[in-house]
Amino acid sequence: MSESKKKIEKLSGVKGMNDLLPAEAVYWEQFERAVRAMLAAYGYRQVRTPIVEHTALFTRGIGEVTDIVEKEMYSFVDALNGEHLTLRPENTAAVVRATIEHNLLYDGPKRLWYMGPMFRHERPQRGRYRQFHQVGVEALGFAGPDVDAEIILMCQRLWDDLGLTDIRLELNSLGQADERARHREALIAYLEQHADALDEDGKRRLYTNPLRVLDTKNPALQDIVNAAPRLIDFLGDASLAHFEGVQARLRENNIPFRINPRLVRGLDYYNLTVFEWVTDRLGAQGTVAGGGRYDPLIEQLGGKPAPGCGWAMGVERIIELLKETTPEMEADGCDVYVVHQGDAAALKASVIGEHLRSAGFDVIVHAGADGQAGSFKSQMKRADASGAVFAVIIGDDEIARDVASVKPLRAGAGEGQRSVALDALASHLADALTGDSSSDAADADDGESSGGHTLH
Ligand code: ATP
Ligand code: MG
Repeated sequence: MSESKKKIEKLSGVKGMNDLLPAEAVYWEQFERAVRAMLAAYGYRQVRTPIVEHTALFTRGIGEVTDIVEKEMYSFVDALNGEHLTLRPENTAAVVRATIEHNLLYDGPKRLWYMGPMFRHERPQRGRYRQFHQVGVEALGFAGPDVDAEIILMCQRLWDDLGLTDIRLELNSLGQADERARHREALIAYLEQHADALDEDGKRRLYTNPLRVLDTKNPALQDIVNAAPRLIDFLGDASLAHFEGVQARLRENNIPFRINPRLVRGLDYYNLTVFEWVTDRLGAQGTVAGGGRYDPLIEQLGGKPAPGCGWAMGVERIIELLKETTPEMEADGCDVYVVHQGDAAALKASVIGEHLRSAGFDVIVHAGADGQAGSFKSQMKRADASGAVFAVIIGDDEIARDVASVKPLRAGAGEGQRSVALDALASHLADALTGDSSSDAADADDGESSGGHTLH
């Protein structure tokens, strides 16, 4: 191979970080529409925080001995100013940081939501990526169990709106710090008796984060964790009453749940209510959303003490479920594809395109200037493939008569090709789209035109 023909190496994306191509984006758009409608239905308002934060936010906010902080963060030193920064692995800490920084709670509690990419250096596999996406809510400044129940109801409504079944709710209470401390002592004493049988993670966490040992997925440890002292047995009256308040509201709303005493969640900031939405349809990565109450967090991050609770859902996992329930989701095609033949028509095509867009139509104008537009036949092929409802065709003949030919491309969009005065094109298409046959008035052969815009 000669020097000049040397093959240029192709670049690929970063492992565990996915491209989202149009065929899949259709599912994401449907999900995002549903999620925005659901969030609006509960009066939640959006916040957008940066993707990069100071590393200290996450070490302080999430906890030093969590999976995320121990081994999953994309952290780096900014070469230009030496700052220690991290690509956000989750967004609760950042939303709380922004709330404190902008004093958002000064005039009362807030219901907030966010959506966007998160980054964790994990082993990529189905449902587990290094860049993934979460939608989350944070209800800040509300102490009662009513809001815990509200954020759970929100998830159920979203599953219903998306037509997703088989997602079940698991619930637990982590109580308060002093209750956890008493349970922790008992748990450590118990785990010490079984120390030899623990796996490496278990041994490491025995003293640092024994609660997390209960969260293990190692099948060999299930008997040990099943018989371990249960946190729920260490809760005092106030914690139990809060937990009961959440459950009562779920029961009133006919939301089934299972209390899972081993549900602890992987982040340190939770107290009282914790929950996960789980499905069996995604293999090992079956948790589609998780959340709970994190009353200590705002103060921990330097704010005036205020309670909080929220959840985050993994969008990729929900998209997987959506794909299963609707294997063939087509993108909406455009309304109109403009086909043109000849130089004069090629010029006019862009004007017609703009006119129709102003009238509210989605329009693709066939591209290819100065004789490069291709044959009529090949343009019509493109028009068909585009999914457009109509082809609007202009050639020398149409230009001379100030008309366009309209050809329905989809069943139900009318019969046969007809000639329509340019002035009446928008109203003719609108009528044809809504199936109103009185559009005959718009036919160029009737002489009179009713369109408001002038295209000459
Ligand atoms: P897991 O136990 O699956 O690691 P987690 O407890 O680390 O989950 P959270 O931090 O609670 O997860 O994040 C909330 C949701 O975000 C998860 O329930 C999951 O749906 C999604 N999620 C978390 N990590 C990933 C990832 N690496 N790739 C895709 N989705 C993820
Ligand atoms: Mg994880």
